[in-house]
Amino acid sequence: MSSDDVDGNKILAEALVAQGVKYVFGIVGIPVIELSMAIQQAGLHFVGMRNEQAACYAAQAIGYLTKRPGVCLVVSGPGLLHTLGGMANAQMNCWPLLVIGGSCAQDHEGIGGFQECPQVNLARPYCKYSARPPGLTLIPTHVEKAVRLSLYGRPGVSYLDFPGNILAQRVSDSKVVHTAICPEPPLAWPDPALVSQAASLIVRSMRPLVIVGKGAAYAGAEVIVRDFVRTFNLPVLPTPMGKGVVDDNDFHCVSSARTTALQHADTILLLGARLNWILHFGRPPRFDPNVRIIQVDICAEELHNSVPAKVAIHADIGTFTRQLIQQLIGHAWALRYMSPWWGQLNSKSDKNKAVIMKMTQDTRIPLNYYTVFHHIQEAIPKDCIIVSEGANTMDIGRSMLRNRLPKHRLDAGTFGTMGVGPGFAVAAALWCQDYAPDKRVICVEGDSAFGFSGMEIETMFSSCESSHVTGIPCSPYMQANWEFTALYNSLHLIQSFVKKFK
Ligand code: ADP
Repeated sequence: MSSDDVDGNKILAEALVAQGVKYVFGIVGIPVIELSMAIQQAGLHFVGMRNEQAACYAAQAIGYLTKRPGVCLVVSGPGLLHTLGGMANAQMNCWPLLVIGGSCAQDHEGIGGFQECPQVNLARPYCKYSARPPGLTLIPTHVEKAVRLSLYGRPGVSYLDFPGNILAQRVSDSKVVHTAICPEPPLAWPDPALVSQAASLIVRSMRPLVIVGKGAAYAGAEVIVRDFVRTFNLPVLPTPMGKGVVDDNDFHCVSSARTTALQHADTILLLGARLNWILHFGRPPRFDPNVRIIQVDICAEELHNSVPAKVAIHADIGTFTRQLIQQLIGHAWALRYMSPWWGQLNSKSDKNKAVIMKMTQDTRIPLNYYTVFHHIQEAIPKDCIIVSEGANTMDIGRSMLRNRLPKHRLDAGTFGTMGVGPGFAVAAALWCQDYAPDKRVICVEGDSAFGFSGMEIETMFSSCESSHVTGIPCSPYMQANWEFTALYNSLHLIQSFVKKFK
């Protein structure tokens, strides 16, 4: 062995660092034990979890929050199989994720190797890219490609497979094809003619509506989108994870008149949301059959899906909105004549708010969801990240718990996956630790949803004790959440729970 020899573990760990990866979540075992050590030696932040699925949820949440894929590191066979649910969830949510699976040594393949499994093929339906690097020297090339594909175009999942013998092999460092960091994804610019058509539709509209999805949050387009709706006084409806791109408390946010807004809008500007089940497919009876849709998406294949768009624009939301503002500037006066539409929305909103307010006053035991959430909302820090799942817990929580900031709501998402909460919360807490130390994470779980990944509570506490996750800001809240199932029983309990937030 010469002094400049490196093994596959070191090459892979350093390739991840070179691609700007910072966080790895996973479960360690044969054949990735040495890899997990190399990863930590290379300076990556490794969090050991209790189940691969939850590790995969954590890795994708950090990808959504940071716009660089988090890595989910798993063992062969069952390890990768447990991860598939998480991969599908990330792919459906369009979040960047890199899964790295150890796999059975190549000279044991086909003869009943330990945890032998066709992993590259199994991963493929849930990925944009699934591959096994053919040898040590090309590992950095494949890592760069996996990271690039997870980020470019519509974000999604990459899978890389590493047989134990490849990880353990050694080669001279001079032979390794080291690869530079893949640049930030290119911004797609809109066709100015289409922006002009969009502007003209909006100006002629009597009942316009802007729908903001989690694509707008991912795009980091909150400043320009807020500027846009305020300048032109447009009503905005966020999807569940589009909440916070425009502050829920902003006058322009019409969530409390959602049904009226969807049913009566004559022109809808769709910014980073799909017309899938979350938006009732964009079809009657929830939408006006003659509604004109202006669809903006970074994924050209998404355009016209479910309902043909009147104007379909392949662009980044930020670049599009900036150009749209320019086109509309001279027409701001026209849009201010929407008072009947605002009147309709405000009157419905007032009525709905009154009904809900009445429900929050009902303190009979067991407490109803609205009363519980009303008191939680009063207590929690107004800029905290809210992780939420469960059926009623998530649905009612969506309207009762407010988001002021983008990417501050993480929930069951496009795939409706239950069990995501604890993994998402671990990732969010880590993000807070590194980027916003004073921020808190609150995980509001339905009891059934919690059960899927409940063991990750231990990850939160054990990680806190290790040097890696010391001081995770959410840990006191996680502790408090143990009392959550009891909250429905009395207002007194809620009040004592709430004191912990102060
Ligand atoms: P929601 O769940 O909030 O309705 P979806 O996940 O259904 O949102 O849709 C998000 C959409 O945003 C996807 O179609 C995705 O391609 C798109 N998207 C992601 N990033 C951008 C971006 N930077 N600009 C435009 N569209 C984007």
